[in-house]
Amino acid sequence: MRTTKLPSGESVPVLGQGTWYMGDHPSRRAAEIATLREGLDLGMTLIDTAEMYGDGLSEELVGEAIKGRRDEVFLVSKVLPSNASRNGTIAACERSLRRLGTDCIDLYLLHWRGRTPFAETIAAFEQLQDAGKIKRWGVSNMDVRDMQELARAPGGEAMATNQVLYNLTRRGIEFDLLPQAQQRGLPLMAYSPIEQGRLAHYPEVQEIADRHYATPAQVALAWVLRQQGVIAIPKASSVEHVRENHAALKLELTAEDLEELDAAFPPPDGPEPLEMI
Ligand code: NAP
Repeated sequence: MRTTKLPSGESVPVLGQGTWYMGDHPSRRAAEIATLREGLDLGMTLIDTAEMYGDGLSEELVGEAIKGRRDEVFLVSKVLPSNASRNGTIAACERSLRRLGTDCIDLYLLHWRGRTPFAETIAAFEQLQDAGKIKRWGVSNMDVRDMQELARAPGGEAMATNQVLYNLTRRGIEFDLLPQAQQRGLPLMAYSPIEQGRLAHYPEVQEIADRHYATPAQVALAWVLRQQGVIAIPKASSVEHVRENHAALKLELTAEDLEELDAAFPPPDGPEPLEMI
């Protein structure tokens, strides 16, 4: 598995597993757990979840999938902005730990910016770190200005990642957020890297996939992973999809492929507001 480094020096896989909408339907539970475990077997050991997903159902599913395998996993979860006060963050984390069946989350993120000042949430993250309940903290859906403000907040320099929307159809971050993160050695986590499955249906992507005997989802993932310091977290709920996504690591896009993709999905030519799903 290819890895990238967190600012603190630890390596994490560049291809992980998302879990939004997983755990919602009892009839799909067994297949979803088998998929997450297959992903672990393949080395996709970074698992991303959140207290928001299914109101805790996704965290419970992840807890079941990693039972007996906790040591293999780099576990990421998120606190909702509405819970991100000093005491609220700590209580939310403790609920997440119970659902996940673990005593420590590897990376705990503020899901998006709310009304609580950054300094207060960071203080809660630091308290959780001191208590051994989280190893590190980060943020999600933060734009360039938010990142500047975070860097100035007390303790803000310890942030380990910013998880943002990034795929062929959402390239705004290439203008500023991504190069700035790369410059300071901060990995970005690309969420919805297949645009929630929609990138599997673009003829321009299919054409490139055909040339490589690959699938459009693999082209979308290889394209995200061409960047240094970017971690992709596609969500798959079948073993076939997770195997296919893993195989995207072997797909190398040519200069010609990249030119065609630039023509179909132009890069930004100025600052754009950060998009969110
Ligand atoms: P995504 O990973 O871009 O796409 C998931 C969709 O693509 C699912 O419908 C899945 O179908 C399909 N898919 C997966 N592999 C495929 C393949 N090989 N071929 C064809 N289709 C495939 O979208 P996402 O779930 O929105 O994003 C990924 C993860 O990022 C989330 O699960 C979540 O953990 C995280 N996220 C974070 C935020 C945030 O605000 N921080 C926001 C959105 C998402 P099946 O399920 O049938 O396999």
